[in-house]
Order: sequence, then C-alpha cells, then structure tokens
Amino acid sequence: MTPRARLLELDRRHLWRPYTSSVDHETRDPLVVVRAEGPYLVDDTGRRILDGSGSWWCNNLGHGHPRIRAALERQAASLLHCSFGNATHEPAVLLAEELVATAPEGLTRVFFSDNGSTAVEVAAKIAFQYWQQNGRPERRRFLALEGGYHGDTFGAMSLGDSGTFHDVFSPLKFPVTHAPAPSDASWEDVARFVEAELEARGHEYAALVVEPIVQGAAGMRIYPAEVLRRFREATKKADVFLVVDEVFTGFGRTGPFWASEHAGIAPDLLATAKGLSGGVMPFAATLASERLYDGFRGDKTRALMHGHTFFGNPLGAAVAREVLAIYREEGILERAEAKAETLARRIQEIASLPGVLRTRSLGMVAAVDLGEGGYLGEKGWKVAAHALELGAQIRPLGDTLYLVPPLNIPDEALHALLDILAEAIARA
Ligand SMILES: *Cc1c(COP(=O)(O)O)cnc(C)c1O
Repeated sequence: MTPRARLLELDRRHLWRPYTSSVDHETRDPLVVVRAEGPYLVDDTGRRILDGSGSWWCNNLGHGHPRIRAALERQAASLLHCSFGNATHEPAVLLAEELVATAPEGLTRVFFSDNGSTAVEVAAKIAFQYWQQNGRPERRRFLALEGGYHGDTFGAMSLGDSGTFHDVFSPLKFPVTHAPAPSDASWEDVARFVEAELEARGHEYAALVVEPIVQGAAGMRIYPAEVLRRFREATKKADVFLVVDEVFTGFGRTGPFWASEHAGIAPDLLATAKGLSGGVMPFAATLASERLYDGFRGDKTRALMHGHTFFGNPLGAAVAREVLAIYREEGILERAEAKAETLARRIQEIASLPGVLRTRSLGMVAAVDLGEGGYLGEKGWKVAAHALELGAQIRPLGDTLYLVPPLNIPDEALHALLDILAEAIARA
C-alpha cells in the first residue's frame, strides 16, 4: 500500500468529516494537502491548486504568510499557553488594545474565545444576562434574519436560520424570531419587519443578531447598507442591543475593515473569528460596549458566567497581532481595492454564460447562482468537480458558487481562478 493509499484508508476508517455524507466520505478521495503557499494548496503529487474558497472563508492573507509563521515561532519560544483565570499576558492584552483601536466606535471590551460560533454565543449570553441583572428580565427574546448563519453550536444554531443545515436540531433550539427572507430584492420588507417588530414588542427583546451586509451561508446574499443602518436605528429606538456577526465579513473581506463600516454604524456587540487569526488558528473575540461591561460590575453573582480553557491563548493572540500589523504595513485593504474591481468585472462577464442565472460581488466576495435549488442543489458540485480538474478548489453552497480568494492574491492568480471558474461552468 502506498503512503497515500494508507492515509486515505485510515481517513475513511477513523475520521468523521464535517458537512460530508458517509457516501461521499467513502467514495470520493479528498485532496491530500501537504503544503500551502499564497493562494495555492499543494497536494501530495506536487500539484498546485488555487484555494478559491479560502479554506472555508478564513484565509484572507494567503497561506503560509512568512510573517505569521515567524510570529508563531517567536511566541512559541516563550509562552504556549496559560489560563486567564488569575493570570494575564502581553499578547492577549496588547491584542485587546489593538482590536479596540480598529473596532467601530464604542466597542471597548474584548472577550476571547476560539471559534466563530462561540464568539456569537458569547455575544448572545452577554446581551441576555445584561437584561436579567439590570432590571429588565422580561427582555429575553432574540430577533434575527431568515437565511442567517451564525455557527453550529446550539445557541448559534438557534440564532441562525440555515434551513436544511440544522432542521434536525429544531426541537432543541431556543425560540428566536426570524425576519422573513427577502423575496427577490425586497430588503425593504426585511427592514420594515424589523422596525415593526421592535416597535411593537421591543421591550421583550434582548438583541437583534445579524450578519452585516453579506449573509454568507445563505449563498453570499448581499444587502444594502441602508438596511443595516435601519437595523441600527430601530434597535437604538427600542433600546435593544445590536449584535453584528463579522466572523466572515470582518478583516476587509467586503472592502472596509468591518462590513459595519459600509453603513457607518457601530453595534453594541461584535463577533470576530476566521480572518482574525489570518485563518490559521482557532481564535475568536467578542467585542462589547462599556455600557454592557458596566452592567456586569459588582460581585461574583454579576460576573459573566462563561469562559474557555483557551481564552486569549498566547499563540492565537500573537498571530492576531501580527495579522493586524500586516494589514497596516502591507496596505492590505488599499491594495485589495483594485483586485475587488477585477473580481467584480470578471464575475459580471460570467453572468452572460449559458446556465448562469445571476452573479454578484462585494469586495473580495463573488457569487454565481446556477439554479434555485438552494443548499441541496447539485449544480454547483458539478462545476466544482470540473474546477478541481482545472486546478482550483471551489466549494459550492448547493447551486451557488462563490469565490473568496485571499485579499492579497497576486493578479495573475486571480485571473487564473476566474478563467477556471468560467471554463468549469462552460464544461458543466
Ligand atoms: C463561519 C461563521 C461562523 C462560525 O464560525 P466557526 O469558527 O466555524 O464556528 C459564524 N458566523 C458566520 C457569519 C460565519 O461565517
């Protein structure tokens, strides 16, 4: 048995893959990745494959950035981990200061965790507990959007509404009101629903939770900044907290550093993960306003009853600090502007290919709809198979194909990725 065959055999025998049917697990060989550099994954035969889906939307700075490697090594030499229970350390403290400086105005408190789902759960718990111990215990409900995705843990699943993803767990989710998804382009209706609901029953709500500007798992659904502004106004009026889930949209994915900036708004709570560590470490943070922190002042009975073993992990914190430095010093956002224009222009050309219903893009996110089959649609998978043969990994959301390349992808590689996408659609 070759080493490769043995690896695949053991993979089939012992692994349980995320979002993968046993049929696929047992009949389709995954890529065997041995290395990754820049926009490329390198397999065990030395083949270089463009990582079109950003290793699940997190790889914003390309693979193997030398500065990230070096930061990890430097940190590894002194402190790998110690609990935050009654100790502190420089990487986490300085990172908190730097995150606050980058964040929308008024977010001054940082709670660390280790994945996007958890960062959202922490935001929900902060919002809920705040009202419980500050004289408004009847504010227990959450408002969110249909099609929203906030992660796979129970609270995050409850807040989300990812249809087929999580249906089986419905009996275990806590009740959340979801504003109806826009039928076609009527985000106006979504904004109106939120406004009406908060006006009528705002006093029962703890928070509104949204993905700002782009609903990722819903199929890279993009909505107008004006709608996010109206969410902010309506929540302010009803004194309901606004939680923005910037796990995917943060770190320049949609253009500005935070997608909230499109609307010029500052939320009460913000969840970040994925790009926070340059997409290389399980690391996350929930940012909160001073008002929220003030609501927890007092003795033990008022403390936020939440914490993870790896809170503020020094390796993750050191990497995140280096990521912020790379954004500043390599002009990542400025240089991504021209790349985003290229992406927008070329994805629009793809709109005229046979079999394509529509395309859209914002910043370094682009999507192509091939059908209305949603997440269980098969059309995207057919194109993805051709794309892989042509040298790009493009993971579809059912009938929707999307590209989320690194923000610093070299222009030639970006063009190559789009050439492959167009050719794969033509072949399929
Ligand atoms: C990926 C994602 C999450 C969940 O993050 P994990 O690190 O996978 O738990 C939450 N919200 C949004 C918007 C995401 O894209």
